[in-house]
Amino acid sequence: MNMPTADSLSALLADARAALPATVDLRRRLHRTPEVGLDLPATQAIVVEELRALGLEPRLGSATTSVTAVIEGARPGPTILLRADMDGLPLTEETGLAFASRAPGTMHACGHDIHIAMLLGAARLLVAPRDAIAGRVLLMFQPGEEGFHGARVMLEEGLLDLPAGQEVTGAFALHISTRYASGTIDYRPGPMLVAADFIRLTIRGRGGHASAPHETIDPIPVAAEIVLALQAMVTRRVDVFDPAVITIAHIDAGTTTNIIPETAFVEGTIRTASEATRALVHAGVRRVVDGICAAHDAIAELEIIPGYPVTINDPAFTAFAAGVAAETLGSGAVVELASPIMGAEDFSYVLQRVPGAMFFVGARPPEEDPATAPQNHSNRVVFHEPAMAVGAAVYAAVALRHLAG
Ligand SMILES: [Zn+2]
Repeated sequence: MNMPTADSLSALLADARAALPATVDLRRRLHRTPEVGLDLPATQAIVVEELRALGLEPRLGSATTSVTAVIEGARPGPTILLRADMDGLPLTEETGLAFASRAPGTMHACGHDIHIAMLLGAARLLVAPRDAIAGRVLLMFQPGEEGFHGARVMLEEGLLDLPAGQEVTGAFALHISTRYASGTIDYRPGPMLVAADFIRLTIRGRGGHASAPHETIDPIPVAAEIVLALQAMVTRRVDVFDPAVITIAHIDAGTTTNIIPETAFVEGTIRTASEATRALVHAGVRRVVDGICAAHDAIAELEIIPGYPVTINDPAFTAFAAGVAAETLGSGAVVELASPIMGAEDFSYVLQRVPGAMFFVGARPPEEDPATAPQNHSNRVVFHEPAMAVGAAVYAAVALRHLAG
């Protein structure tokens, strides 16, 4: 049996560092041509070409431009899934970089170009030591992470449907971030990211003259009361150690000073760090909205639109993967986070089905001040590219150890 040792894990890092120029070239090529949503044909073509160059056989999704490929080990065993998302964001890049986006209004501002390059880098590291693999590595390249539920589409297309004995027993994803120092792995067990759901509410009253409100049903004070009551509901009904955030980010009603409008429109987001609090807050929003509208004879048309579920890192897999990352990088580079990040991720759908984890790879350029470094989703975000070697090595190390037999 060819069990990878700590030495061979640090050799993976050395190998990934030696390959960094090629990884950087690939990343910059992807960075110039970002695409948004579920349909990423140019990105898919690059991923397919790179997989074929490694001797792998890419499989294409039918509903979207997803790609999967399998690295088959020399011996039988289960499957580990490694995931990279591939989509950009609808904003205009203002980094001034030589390889900045050439697609107007579109930018790889969340670093998904880096995720693709890191996972292909890991694939290159994993193709060589097939003798050390009992089972297989399933590479998942998904479109549509930024709000389009791309991972869910891939699950519905049978991503995890493997024959008995080859089941996916672990799933692992890395996300680049300028929140953390370059070259670190940043993680926590349990909730890692939160659920993000959306409130869309129309309060229907009866319009009329602003001088005679008693002859109308004015939706504006109803809206104001609801906005404040939602904040009171969160502080009075939600455990502070299992937190929730409600932000009403948009209100729209009326046209001028002497008209009471027919309707008021209110929308915002709900963030929760557990499925239990998520359900409790949804029920609370409905109760507050329905109760206040009823109290004022207004009609509530409320939609709570589910976004991504809570991203929950399996504690055992998380301890395993953090240990492997520490062996690969040195324990000083692996940092346990005190609290979840209030963003959301559709890798959560995969983690609902398979024990696994998502970790961050720190990529804040060393010269940047942590307090002011542009964050993911900023039009000025710049990632420190050498961190890609860390990501590629950790992906590969986690897969090798999981499948060591
Ligand atoms: Zn992202």
